[in-house]
Amino acid sequence: MSADCLFCRMASGEIPVPKVHEDDLVFAIRDINPQAPTHVLVMPVAHVPSAAALTDADGPLLARLFSVAARIAAGDGLEAGWRLVSNVGPDGGQTVPHLHLHLLGGRSMHWPPG
Ligand code: 5GP
Ligand code: ZN
Repeated sequence: MSADCLFCRMASGEIPVPKVHEDDLVFAIRDINPQAPTHVLVMPVAHVPSAAALTDADGPLLARLFSVAARIAAGDGLEAGWRLVSNVGPDGGQTVPHLHLHLLGGRSMHWPPG
C-alpha cells in the first residue's frame, strides 16, 4: 500500500467506494467520470504504479485482472463487445499512478483512440 495513493486508499477502505468486485488480488469500481455507459476500473489491491512495472512474476495478477474484467463485461450485458485500456505515464494519459484497466462498453468504440 502507498499511503498517498488514491486507489490504495480505496482498496484498504480508508476512502469508501462501492466495489463492483473485490477479491484477494483485484478490485473494481465504476469510474467517477464515465466515458461510456459501462466504464469500470479493474485494478490490483496491491500498489503497482503502472503496466511499466509488471514482470513475468505478475502472471497470476494479470490473469485475474483480465478474467474479472470479462466477468464484469458479461454482467453488464456487453455481448456486442468492449474495450480494455491501460494508460501508462504522462504521454499515455495516466492520471492516477496505480495500475488499472479501463473497461469500456455499451457504445461503439472508435479507433484510433485520441
Ligand atoms: P487514468 O487517467 O490514470 O488512466 O485513469 C484514472 C481514472 O480514475 C479516470 O478515468 C478518473 O475519472 C478516475 N477517477 C479519478 N478519481 C476517482 C475517484 O475518486 N473515484 C472514481 N470512482 N474514479 C476516479
Ligand atoms: Zn496505489
